[in-house]
Amino acid sequence: MRKPIIAGNWKMYKTASEASAFIEEVKTALPDTGKVDAVICAPAVFLQNLSASVEQTGLKIGAQTMHEEKEGAFTGETSPVQLKDLGVEYVIIGHSERRQYFNETDESANRKVQSAFEHGLAPILCVGESLEQRESGETGQVVEAQIEKGMANLSADQAASLVIAYEPIWAIGTGKTATAEDANEVCGIIRNKVASLFSGETAQAVRIQYGGSVKPANIEELLGMEHIDGALVGGASLEAESFLKLLEAGANA
Ligand code: PGA
Repeated sequence: MRKPIIAGNWKMYKTASEASAFIEEVKTALPDTGKVDAVICAPAVFLQNLSASVEQTGLKIGAQTMHEEKEGAFTGETSPVQLKDLGVEYVIIGHSERRQYFNETDESANRKVQSAFEHGLAPILCVGESLEQRESGETGQVVEAQIEKGMANLSADQAASLVIAYEPIWAIGTGKTATAEDANEVCGIIRNKVASLFSGETAQAVRIQYGGSVKPANIEELLGMEHIDGALVGGASLEAESFLKLLEAGANA
């Protein structure tokens, strides 16, 4: 049985005091984190405070991106060593907004995934097709290529512990969710691809999240699907009450 993983992606939202208030509220009402992995991926400026405030709670903190080098002259960037040092456990890699606005590619995502593993962070690798690609029937091909490039050079153990987030770009922040069946179909394609690149056993172990307008009203149906093991959530992770409902659904899945 794969343990569900619900990760909030706050993107560039919240002030420091709003971030702390959220964590305090969520901490007191957390469902059994033996049944669901609960992660908040916060802006880099809050990571130190938030990591300290979730100690011993079961709630985990993640970053939204990182540089692949452990240190160097890369103005404005954050390294995996710096994240690890703060107690950060997860890192989102290759989110479609990073690909769209910051020129990230499958190749740079792959370097970052390898570096995250090397430095003891758990990467969440994002893949997903654009509306144009979906409409021209290329979804399967697109995500398979993203998986093949994004998972290059990983060991079988690394591959098995990777979290993959399938996020159709047209469903992010738009209120349009893929149907649970469509999302499950693509997550199944991803799992098959992992089986062909590594092994059936690895594919059974890897956790695949769906992301794109996930909210309390649709999460149960999504988590009920065979290949969907969790959610990467933007908008609906910003309010403690709504994030807690998503975690409950994860714990009961
Ligand atoms: P959304 O964002 O839930 O607001 O659609 C998801 C994401 O970008 O990870």
